[in-house]
Amino acid sequence: MPTVYDLSREQLRDRLVAWGEPAFRAKQVWSQLWKRAATYDQMSDVSPGLREQLSEGLPLGVEVLTERTSDRGATRKALLRLGGQHVVEAVLMGYPDRVTVCISSQAGCAMGCTFCATGQMGLQNNLTAGEIAAQAVWARREAGKLPDSTPQRLTNVVFMGMGEPFANQRHVFASLARLTDPGAFGLGARHITVSTVGIVPGIERLAERAPQVGLAVSFHAASDELRDQLVPPNTRYPLLRLERAIADWRLRTRRRPSIEWALIDRVNDTTEQAELLAPIARRLGAHVNLIPLNPTPGYPVLGSPPARIRRFVETLERLRVNVTVRDTRGRSIDAACGQLALATA
Ligand code: SAH
Ligand code: SF4
Repeated sequence: MPTVYDLSREQLRDRLVAWGEPAFRAKQVWSQLWKRAATYDQMSDVSPGLREQLSEGLPLGVEVLTERTSDRGATRKALLRLGGQHVVEAVLMGYPDRVTVCISSQAGCAMGCTFCATGQMGLQNNLTAGEIAAQAVWARREAGKLPDSTPQRLTNVVFMGMGEPFANQRHVFASLARLTDPGAFGLGARHITVSTVGIVPGIERLAERAPQVGLAVSFHAASDELRDQLVPPNTRYPLLRLERAIADWRLRTRRRPSIEWALIDRVNDTTEQAELLAPIARRLGAHVNLIPLNPTPGYPVLGSPPARIRRFVETLERLRVNVTVRDTRGRSIDAACGQLALATA
């Protein structure tokens, strides 16, 4: 068993009952694990003997290897070892009105986007549902340490860490079920967003299986010619097909999708690309999130300078597109978008 968070409620109960504990004790432990995000030492209503038996027989499976903070403590990045073997990064970000954790769905990624540090390392492993959910549990516990300029309570989960969620669908959908289960983690599905590079069958399944969960799609280019180069899965799911899948998702869920776009100097920050993007974004009723490219070791091109970012934004706004430029939270600790890799492991 990779982590205790991989057990169902019934499996946990059966284990405790086999140890001679009453069933209500299992309920108590379950709720402490998920709702209070407690570690075994923090379970003051559980006897020390049982706590010890739990940590030996059913280890949490979440070890914090290193932790770094920036933005005056409002951004916290942890290197986590999950299930005793998979190492990933998770980033907690406090804002005045919300606290978001960015979690990983895989150790590494096989999609090969050239500008992304996770892509540069290749795929090491899929995470299990419990390993994915355990990162949100870590964040719930960690949120208590945030400065009081932000709520000290986890409010949002985004699947924007390492990996491509829809390349690990079975475990990602199971983790969504656990995170939104009112009897388990109990976070509203509307407070969760999955970001994908554009794996069409995954988008279709998200609409069916988790219609309240938000969708962000990493475009980075609005012509197949350029997108094939930047985002290799585009050759399999080209723009027209991708747009159709997002349009269907929107019809079924009645939610507004996001389009993610990392601005790369003189590569995809041209007026031509903005003019190609605008009609797509308008047809989809999408919100465009621009992220100035963060530096990564394996990609020599720079992020767009401020003047080019401004021009790109102005072109989109003139064409009546809803657009914002995202902040580069955590850049100084390599915790920003696309910088997650295991160099610190
Ligand atoms: N695999 C999924 C989710 C993880 S990536 C996806 O690609 O959507 C999270 C976001 O960071 C994506 O939008 C990705 O394109 C973006 N990103 C990757 N490398 C980046 C970089 N160097 N600078 C800025 N954003 C980057
Ligand atoms: Fe994988 Fe997303 Fe990075 Fe592309 S941008 S390599 S899909 S994590």
